[in-house]
Amino acid sequence: MNAAVEHLLARIEAKREEVTALTQDLVRIPTVNPPGDAYEACAHFLGERLAKKGFAVEYVRAIGAPGDSNSHPRTNVVARWTGQGPGECVHFNSHIDVVEAGSGWTYAPFGGQVDQGRVYGRGSCDMKGGLAASVIACEALIESGLPIPGALEISGTVDEESGGFAGVGYLAERGYFSKPRVHHVIIPEPLGVDRICLGHRGVWWAEVETRGRMAHGSMPFLGDSAINHMSAFIHLLESQLQPRLQERRTAEPVEPPGARVSTLNINSIHGGQLEQRYANDERGWPTAQTPAPMVAHSCRAVLDRRFIAEENLEAVKQEIIAMLDELQRTRPGFDYGIRDIMSFVPTATPKDAPVVDATARAIARVLGRQPSYIASPGTYDQKHIVRSGKLQDCIAYGPGILDLAHQPDEYVGIQELVDSAKIMALASLDLTGWTRLAA
Ligand SMILES: [Zn+2]
Repeated sequence: MNAAVEHLLARIEAKREEVTALTQDLVRIPTVNPPGDAYEACAHFLGERLAKKGFAVEYVRAIGAPGDSNSHPRTNVVARWTGQGPGECVHFNSHIDVVEAGSGWTYAPFGGQVDQGRVYGRGSCDMKGGLAASVIACEALIESGLPIPGALEISGTVDEESGGFAGVGYLAERGYFSKPRVHHVIIPEPLGVDRICLGHRGVWWAEVETRGRMAHGSMPFLGDSAINHMSAFIHLLESQLQPRLQERRTAEPVEPPGARVSTLNINSIHGGQLEQRYANDERGWPTAQTPAPMVAHSCRAVLDRRFIAEENLEAVKQEIIAMLDELQRTRPGFDYGIRDIMSFVPTATPKDAPVVDATARAIARVLGRQPSYIASPGTYDQKHIVRSGKLQDCIAYGPGILDLAHQPDEYVGIQELVDSAKIMALASLDLTGWTRLAA
């Protein structure tokens, strides 16, 4: 058994250039989301490669999902390789979308340039490097000729950066992430080559609207400003709620440690007329249509409340609604509405779950050190796998430095690609049941 494992590791070591080239190829497909560019091209690139290696490949377009259109089809790819005889299925799920390049790059964002042992480009770290590592891991397992039972699956899914509803969410509702099809899921997000991410904090997004009464902007005393009412609400959030949240500490190993408390962010705010970018030309005349003087009758803010495993969603909502009700009682003219946008409860896979245990042992074998266990401040596609797929045995594990995600000059280290591919392959041997059969 040891010899077989050594051969497998050597086989992956010999694929250093291949995993680099695959990462480069994937970075060069600019799958920017929003709006969801080039999904079709990326899904087919992956599917065609895996079909040649013996995977059964399926393309699943999320018809009717938000964002799906003929110009921007939400096309996912799911590939399955069936092993020899009964065993369990290990699924590697990667999102193929990346965020916009933005500015500040010294490398071409979609060039996939290699420099000093790193692949640079948007998505190299988050998470096309992880996707490439999982592909190489599975291909090496298949090429090894070992009698692997069960099945290996690889999916490339869309829209993770915008909630994953047309990607893993869509597939999970249709049984792609449930037993008996799938038993263990590894999501190669860039958490670091020796860290296992067990889950994430919860999230509640809500839109709060304050209402006022319109009047001429030169006579504000005749109206009632919705913006002033919103300002009173925000003052309460800052002076009362946020200090309370800072006191609520979780026992989960959330990284960075600053996120081991509850948090609140105001993601956006808008009051009054639709805004434009006002500027003046050389005569001093406005270049855009000028606004009319109005007292705002509506102001809307999107709240982003992240909560810890020790809290529950209903209490999280009620706490904010109680503050709004309090303002309604005490502040003349205060009127509000509140609307849920999205919520997910915290997830935490137990440390003794099979996928955690197998990955931890593989990390120890390949890197010669014990893994650290972490949880994520923000959600990722694990939320859909747990909620819709009802599958608990799921972690995020993959190459790359999380802090580099979404930044200019994002990169992934080639050594990390190779090491994580080895770890994914060894964990798969355990999880499919090969290790037990071979012992
Ligand atoms: Zn990601």
